Amino acid sequence: MEKKEKRTGEAKLMKGNEAFAEAAIRADMDAYFGYPITPQSEVLEYLEREIPGRHGLVLQAESEIASINMIYGAAGAGARVMTSSSSPGISLMQEGISYIAAAQLPCLIANIVRGGPGLGTIQPSQGDYFQATKGGGHGDYHLIVLAPSSVQEMADFVFDGFRLAEKYRNPVMILSDGALGQMMEKVILPEEGSLPKSVPAWATTGKVIDAVKAGKIRHFFLIGGCDGAKPGRNYFTRVAELVPKDCVILTAACGKYRFNYNDFGTIDGIPRLVDTGQCNDCYSAIKIAIALAEAFKCGVNDLPLSFVVSWYEQKAVAILLTLLYLGIKNIRLGPSLPAFVSPNVLNFLVENYNIKPIGEPEKDMAEMLG
Ligand code: SF4
Repeated sequence: MEKKEKRTGEAKLMKGNEAFAEAAIRADMDAYFGYPITPQSEVLEYLEREIPGRHGLVLQAESEIASINMIYGAAGAGARVMTSSSSPGISLMQEGISYIAAAQLPCLIANIVRGGPGLGTIQPSQGDYFQATKGGGHGDYHLIVLAPSSVQEMADFVFDGFRLAEKYRNPVMILSDGALGQMMEKVILPEEGSLPKSVPAWATTGKVIDAVKAGKIRHFFLIGGCDGAKPGRNYFTRVAELVPKDCVILTAACGKYRFNYNDFGTIDGIPRLVDTGQCNDCYSAIKIAIALAEAFKCGVNDLPLSFVVSWYEQKAVAILLTLLYLGIKNIRLGPSLPAFVSPNVLNFLVENYNIKPIGEPEKDMAEMLG
């Protein structure tokens, strides 16, 4: 790999954990979120001591699970982020790492491995090799794994790790061990600020609001809900295909699998299809709607935002009730209506929320665009 960083030439005697932490500061890391665990606690301690007055934020989270989810959020905003832990702590992070991989976000994770299953011991070990390289969290993904063999590489691999993570938009793990983390060796550190950085186009940094204000995004369509086997569900694919090129589709839950394999392209680098997650994550879609309403100082119903919900008697119930609780009107629902809705309840929903059954895709699209 081409190395672009410059070294100062100044040799220091440092522990592996300290060299790793110092290299992260020199690599212009924006934020570190972590939780202490032997034998990697020096990473957090070093950063807490050294970052004040230099670039970056360091935060001791309440747990490893909190740390990795802070990494997820900050990486989504385009920040250069890092965490570190040791074997049992890395196990606690697996779901978060899987989410970060699914969201195609870059981050650096150091595993300073210790021995044994369960909580194990504090002795150095290389027992996490298979977890790091072959497995980890659920789903079809792999980490990019770098395994240093010296304190010098503990520092160098921070730069390589950030570079690879940002190039491939994937979490990178530095797989070290307690011996290397605690061992002192001569190290020549890269020059501070020698790893170029820019906010990526996909980062959630307020670009969407700017694009709406500039007239580049005309309308949003939230196409969400469960999928099912009943005929008529091609409606949702057709609606997605009809969405004009200057509009953005937000997807939520399983209904999206009917059309999310299509390439919808981008608007000024913003993807035209933004997935907010599965049924359990519909809160994200609602938060986006509320954030847009706050940004434009209006109600959610006044936004250029249309809701198209594919019904099935599963968690679409929760999605619909959440939308109704927020007072959202004009939801299009289909291909069937909820079985539990009696004629009186239906009348109430139509009168107070203007809920409508789905119709012809072309006609519905024209109405939604008003
Ligand atoms: S409940 Fe969730 S997982 Fe099941 S079909 Fe609905 S969206 Fe999919």
